[in-house]
Amino acid sequence: MRQDQEDPYQRRSAQVYAVADRAGSGSVASPRPVLYDAVLLDRDGTLIEDVPYNGDPEKVRPVPGARAALDRLRAAGLRLAVVTNQSGLARGYFTGAQMRAVHARVEELLGRFDAWLVCPHDDADGCACRKPAPGLVHAAARELGTTASRCVLVGDIGRDVAAALAAGAAGVLVPTPVTRPEEIAAAGWVATDLPAAVAEILRRQQAVQPAVPPAEPVRTALVVRSDSAGDVLVTGPAIRAVAAGAQRVVLLCGPRGRAAADLLPGVDEIIEHPLPWIDPTPGPVDPGAIRGLTARLAAVGADQAVVFTSFHQSALPLALLLRMAEIDRIAAISDDYPGALLDIRHRVPVGVPEPERALSLAAAAGHRLPDGDEPVLRLRRDAVPPRPADLGDPGYVVLHPGSAASSRACPPELATRIAGALTRAGHRVLVTGGADERAVTARVAAAGGIDLGGRTDLAGLAAIVADASAVVVGNTGPAHLAAAAGVPVVSLFAPTVPFGQWGPYRVPTVRLGDSTAPCRDTRAASCPVPGHPCLSDVDPDEVVDALRTLAVSGGGGR
Ligand SMILES: [Zn+2]
Repeated sequence: MRQDQEDPYQRRSAQVYAVADRAGSGSVASPRPVLYDAVLLDRDGTLIEDVPYNGDPEKVRPVPGARAALDRLRAAGLRLAVVTNQSGLARGYFTGAQMRAVHARVEELLGRFDAWLVCPHDDADGCACRKPAPGLVHAAARELGTTASRCVLVGDIGRDVAAALAAGAAGVLVPTPVTRPEEIAAAGWVATDLPAAVAEILRRQQAVQPAVPPAEPVRTALVVRSDSAGDVLVTGPAIRAVAAGAQRVVLLCGPRGRAAADLLPGVDEIIEHPLPWIDPTPGPVDPGAIRGLTARLAAVGADQAVVFTSFHQSALPLALLLRMAEIDRIAAISDDYPGALLDIRHRVPVGVPEPERALSLAAAAGHRLPDGDEPVLRLRRDAVPPRPADLGDPGYVVLHPGSAASSRACPPELATRIAGALTRAGHRVLVTGGADERAVTARVAAAGGIDLGGRTDLAGLAAIVADASAVVVGNTGPAHLAAAAGVPVVSLFAPTVPFGQWGPYRVPTVRLGDSTAPCRDTRAASCPVPGHPCLSDVDPDEVVDALRTLAVSGGGGR
């Protein structure tokens, strides 16, 4: 079930301060923006200077540039809500009337907000709305007539970002002097101040929206995404965008991504061929094979090619082959000078989520997702087989310890302790892994769970993941399968690559692990630090707590 269609917080009790005739009254641009309908803003430290437990309107001081930044969002048709923890209410430091006076003053200075959502509780209350719980984000989305995944939240501490991610929204951290360094390191999206956050929100929104449609209609588009299953899966939304604007889509992928390519909607034909300048363990370049690939690409008869890459990969060698194949409309992201190889040379700042990075290239090539197709990962229904009947009812937790890159895998010893902790907390655990990971899955499952190591191919794994209540996994393909099924993810994310680019996309997520570890940004395939400390220090109880935050209960439901 997609997270957009359900709301586990319907009966919870965030206090909603919305004026009826304002809620949801923001103009909806036509066509609907691809990414966001609404921006949610933390109050203290984000919109206004943090005056602890302030009940005095006279002490309201907006942060620099706030009014103009908010007006830019309003002018772009985005709806605005404030989402704020005010435990001072629970503690009796100020009254509801004083708080409303403060909010009236905020609106006097910063303009109207479409909704105010306040958590009046204290940490000890265990409510579902106090950030980092996602309740306020869900409630705000509902007030604004949208879904959490179409919201972006701006806040100044880790709790704000965590609440956004746990709801499946995007989260931007704007640090202040009180923001802790590890909160900054853990955030996938950081801006220097509120105006900069707003500028980047609007830039990302604009970047996936084509300025002009393709000059000529596209009959056959050749799209390219080499590398692993995860790489192919995160390119899915962009490939659907191209498919919306082309009569036929041919996908060139590598052998490691083939199983994922078979799962993507919008693809009419697949060409599988390794690219020695992309493959992490390439064989020598075989001139005959390259000539054969060039001839095969020429035979596609594409009138447009869109070459998708990760930020550390070059599109240019393939662009040369495409020129040799006489394809004359070629688009790619390239920081390197492309000379005559590209017709559309696209640039993307570091840190943009891979699916959006790819969507922005599709937009540069003239394509956008059609209305009604959300920019989420999706799989072809007909490509996912029925789930094996012997696994019992849906609602189990999938624990996937492995990864093609060991630096991004959950250490087996930790996975074993997580399996035990989850089982003791009442979760049914399925341990998944490839045929080459059977020794690990057997060991992990022995601590609690059913061992499915080697029992599924990627499509079979997608079927199992789709009926899970949550997936516990490192930064690897199954995290993206979970995102494609709308299944919440507890992400044991090694910081070897940026979380903002590779974290589970638009699905409720809790990130665990030490994002300041020395492996950070090394892109290492095997951990360069003895003991794999970024993940091995995770406490299994953090995983149990994360599932609670994601509203996944141990009774099998969620
Ligand atoms: Zn609350």
